[in-house]
Amino acid sequence: MELKKIKLHGFKSFDKPTELDIYPGLTGIVGPNGCGKSNILDSLQWVMGETSYKNLRGSEMDDVIFSGTDTSASRNFAEVSVVLAENKLSHKNDSDNEYEIRRRIERNSGSKYFINSIEKRAKDVQLFFADNSLGPHSVSIVKQGNINQLIEAKPSERRKILEEAAGISGLHHRKHEAILRLNATKANIERINDIINEINTQLSSLKRQYNQAEKFKIIAARIRQFEKELLQIDWNTLTDRENELKNQISTKENTIKLQKNKINDLQIKEGTLKKQIQPIRDNYNSTSEEIQKKNSSLLNIKNEIQYTSERINNTRNQISIIKQDIHREEKNLADHKDQLQKLAIKKEELQRNLNEINKIEHEVLE
Ligand code: ATP
Ligand code: MG
Repeated sequence: MELKKIKLHGFKSFDKPTELDIYPGLTGIVGPNGCGKSNILDSLQWVMGETSYKNLRGSEMDDVIFSGTDTSASRNFAEVSVVLAENKLSHKNDSDNEYEIRRRIERNSGSKYFINSIEKRAKDVQLFFADNSLGPHSVSIVKQGNINQLIEAKPSERRKILEEAAGISGLHHRKHEAILRLNATKANIERINDIINEINTQLSSLKRQYNQAEKFKIIAARIRQFEKELLQIDWNTLTDRENELKNQISTKENTIKLQKNKINDLQIKEGTLKKQIQPIRDNYNSTSEEIQKKNSSLLNIKNEIQYTSERINNTRNQISIIKQDIHREEKNLADHKDQLQKLAIKKEELQRNLNEINKIEHEVLE
C-alpha cells in the first residue's frame, strides 16, 4: 500500500481544507516549531482508528476539532481522509486499486468512518489497515520521540514491531478477535450449562406437573364421557318429549282445521242471516220510528188530557163558586123581597098615616 494523499479539514490547527500530495520517493514537511507538522502525523493515526486521545496529545477526543484562533472561529467537526493505492507492480490500473478512508468527528457526537464514501464500523477500518500492516500504532509511523522508545523497548514489544514489519499483525489482530470470540463462546457455553442445570431442576417439577396433567387428562376424559352419556340420556328424553309434543301439535292442528271449517260454515250462515236480518232490521227501524212518533203524540195527547181535565176542574170550581154566589144572591134576593114586603107594608101604613094626616090636614084646613 502506498499513501498518496492526506486531506485535512477542521483537524487541529488545519482550519481550512488542506490537501497534501505524497509523491513517490521521499516527502518531507518542513516548518517552524508549532506550525503543525506533528498534527499531520496525529491525523494519520486518527484516521487509522486511534481511540486514545492521549496518543493524540489531547485531553478528550473533541480536542482534535479546530478550537479557533484570534482570527478564526472554532469549528464543530473535523475530517481527515487518506488516499491509499495498491503497489503499482501488482496492479496496472490505478483507479481500481485506490481507497479513500475518511474519519469525521462532530462535537459531542463521536466519530464516523467511511471507506470509499460507504460508512463502515471503526473495527472494519482498523482491520483494513491491519491487513495492510498499517494502523495507528504501526511501525510505519514513527513519531517524535519514538526512536528512543524503540531502543528502550522490551523484547516482547520489539517482537510486535518486527511482526508488524513482517506484515502479520493483521493475523494477530484476527487472532485477538478470534480469542475474544472464543472467550465469548466459552462464556455462552457456561451460561448454557447454567441454563441446562436450571432446566434440569425445573424438569423434575415439570415431570410432576406432566404426571398430574396426564391424570387430569384421564379424569377429564372420563368426566367428558359421563357428560356425554348424561347428554345422550337428556337427548333421548327430549326426543321422546319432542315426538309427544309433535303428536299433540298434529292433533291440535286437526282440531284447529275442524274449528276453522266450522268457522267457515258459521261465516257462510252469518252471511245468509245478515242478508235475512237486513229487511227485518229496516222494518224494526221504521217500526221503532213509528212507535217513537206514536209515543210522542201519546205524550201530547196525555198532556192535552191533563190540561183539559185541569181546565174542567177549574171550570167546576168556578161553577161551584158561581153556584155559591147564586145561592148567596138568592138568599140576598129573598132578604131584599122580605125587606121590600116589609117596606110595602110600612109604605101602606105610612100611606094610611099620610092619608089620615092629609085628612086631618084637610079637616084642619077646612
Ligand atoms: P515542533 O516542531 O515543536 O514539533 P510542530 O510543527 O510539530 O512543532 P504541532 O505540535 O504539530 O507543531 O502543532 C502544535 C500547534 O497546533 C499548536 O500551535 C497548537 O495551538 C495547534 N493546535 C493543536 N490542536 C489544535 C486545535 N484543536 N485547534 C487549533 N489549534 C490547535
Ligand atoms: Mg512536532
